[in-house]
Amino acid sequence: MNCLALDVGGTSVKYGIVDENFNILHNGNFSTPSNEPLFLDNINNVVKEAQFDIEAISVAMPGFVNSQNSEYLYGTNIPFSIDFKKLQNFNKNKFFLDNDGNVAAYYEYSTYFSSKYRNLIMLTFGTGIGGGIISDGKLLRGQGSAGELGHILTSSQKDIKCNCGKTGCLEATTSASKWTEVCNSLSLTNPNSELSKAFKNFKFGSVLFDKKINMLENEKFAQMQIIENISNGLVSLFEIFNNEIFVIGGSMASQPFDFISLIEEDLEKRFTFPSRNFPKLTISTQKGNSGILGAASLYFNEK
Ligand SMILES: [Zn+2]
Repeated sequence: MNCLALDVGGTSVKYGIVDENFNILHNGNFSTPSNEPLFLDNINNVVKEAQFDIEAISVAMPGFVNSQNSEYLYGTNIPFSIDFKKLQNFNKNKFFLDNDGNVAAYYEYSTYFSSKYRNLIMLTFGTGIGGGIISDGKLLRGQGSAGELGHILTSSQKDIKCNCGKTGCLEATTSASKWTEVCNSLSLTNPNSELSKAFKNFKFGSVLFDKKINMLENEKFAQMQIIENISNGLVSLFEIFNNEIFVIGGSMASQPFDFISLIEEDLEKRFTFPSRNFPKLTISTQKGNSGILGAASLYFNEK
């Protein structure tokens, strides 16, 4: 039995028809529709034109969802609600809906870590910060939108506005797009520094975590400010959820440089955890189709 799995992003929607062995039988994409009726029409068309039987539909959305009610509520990139109960085949197919960070966490957990751990937290660093929490082997959903880890208030820069409506969110100061912003502004101040040259070449903010680069004082300060804010977030999450592992993913996972070891050094410098071990930190193994496979795993692994 197959699942139509959709990985919804701010600019495009990737989808795949996935079988129970996680083979993608067919895949495609469409531009992210700009309103609810168009959104539902596009999915109805994919179902109508599918060459394979579809038993379930599973959607990963970038924002707040109410899974139980099959409703997407709001996200900074898709700022309108979608009631998936209005889908033509809603009553015929099984339906799953979750936040994309939750889906990523669930996929990592069920595919790579469930034989060893029961408590995993994933953070994805990209345009924003997504997240998902696996507690005692189960994805934590709260009322529907638990695990929005980018919006916890652990940043030391408390006056920086976030698009979610709050100030001082982790995401507002430490998302991967912020790393790039920081590198851009550092490059204006010190255009000839080693970091500026490396950034000009590499163009992605994670270069800020390359220990091989000999950094100037203000560059090192900017790097540590980001690292400390992220460490603070990880420590707070550990105290609440007592997890065994953090998985770090998102667009940075392809080239994280020394991100993990900088966090580990900062934790060691500033904190001790008597009688407890701080969770292991690791970079995600997810590649291109993980959103689609993750959404499909909501169905196949909970079946
Ligand atoms: Zn926020």
